[in-house]
Amino acid sequence: MQAGPAGGPDGAAKGEAMDIAIVGAGKIAADQHVPALAASADFRLVAAASPAGRLHGLAHFPSLAALLAEGPEVEAVAVCTPPQVRHAVAREALLAGKHVLLEKPPGATVSEVQDLIALARRCGRSLYAAWHSRHAPGVEPARAWLAERRLSRADIVWREDVRRWHPGQDWIFEAGGLGVFDPAINALSIASHILPPFFVKAAALSVPAGRAAPIAAALAFEIEGGAPMSADFDFREAGPQTWDLTAETADGQSLRLSQGGAALAVNGREVPLEPAAEYAALYRRFAELIAEGGVDVDLRPLQLVADAFLLGRHTVVEAFAF
Ligand code: NAP
Repeated sequence: MQAGPAGGPDGAAKGEAMDIAIVGAGKIAADQHVPALAASADFRLVAAASPAGRLHGLAHFPSLAALLAEGPEVEAVAVCTPPQVRHAVAREALLAGKHVLLEKPPGATVSEVQDLIALARRCGRSLYAAWHSRHAPGVEPARAWLAERRLSRADIVWREDVRRWHPGQDWIFEAGGLGVFDPAINALSIASHILPPFFVKAAALSVPAGRAAPIAAALAFEIEGGAPMSADFDFREAGPQTWDLTAETADGQSLRLSQGGAALAVNGREVPLEPAAEYAALYRRFAELIAEGGVDVDLRPLQLVADAFLLGRHTVVEAFAF
């Protein structure tokens, strides 16, 4: 599906575009990366590498190694695999001289992402840890409103149906798959961007019998300055899906960021928002980063997940099957 210089499907000019490949041809690659790249003036998607997955119309290779050996030359790679193999794939891409975008979470452990940061710097290549939820339309207005106020408390409720959003993805409940923290890290990526620093104080992790990763988690945090914060993460929500962050201020005002950052209300009144496409923004940022020769990896969301695992009390709950 090599788009010629005339442009992508929406007419985005591709004349100066960089050739890019996707590694990991699964749900998020098909749902978000392919359309965002088709509309990008900065990138031209030319190939995909995945053991079995296919992306419609693209040259396909069974692994990154095969793509590097036999495929078209690319300048950049977007790593959309499950997190357990992200480090090995990203290392291989950086060592081959490619700029690398990492889907969230940027790795299965903090130290392997630190290794990638050091490697990117040694190789002189750009490395970008993409936190797509930070580009939801309500996030920047919420950050600006909160920056001028003192918090008295904050609460996160992130409850969704794993069967609906991750059908059959058993990797999510394997070690390194993060379980409910796979979506919850999106909440933590927003919270760590818009709130003052906060720290995990307690965590209760509910792990289905026979699985390695939690299906639900209840967390208590302390925000710098002493205000409390809670998080209720649950992957078993078959009813209405909730992705909300609420905050109260010392002078009695309130903010509600809901629908994963797509809606914002202040003191109960809806705030009009500019429409924003999260993945288009990620690829604009990745192109900027390559142009400036930068590395942009914010580890805080993954560190908070690691802290929850460090402090967490694990309880075995009912077995789960897709
Ligand atoms: P998925 O549907 O399971 O897709 C992952 C793909 O990676 C599969 O096609 C898989 O193999 C391929 N893969 C596995 N190991 C590989 C390797 N060594 N080299 C190349 N490809 C490999 O999962 P997903 O939902 O797309 O999620 C992938 C990542 O995106 C996760 O980190 C997730 O947190 C993130 N994400 C997901 C969503 C969502 O809504 N699903 C949203 C935002 C971000 P096969 O080729 O064998 O199928």
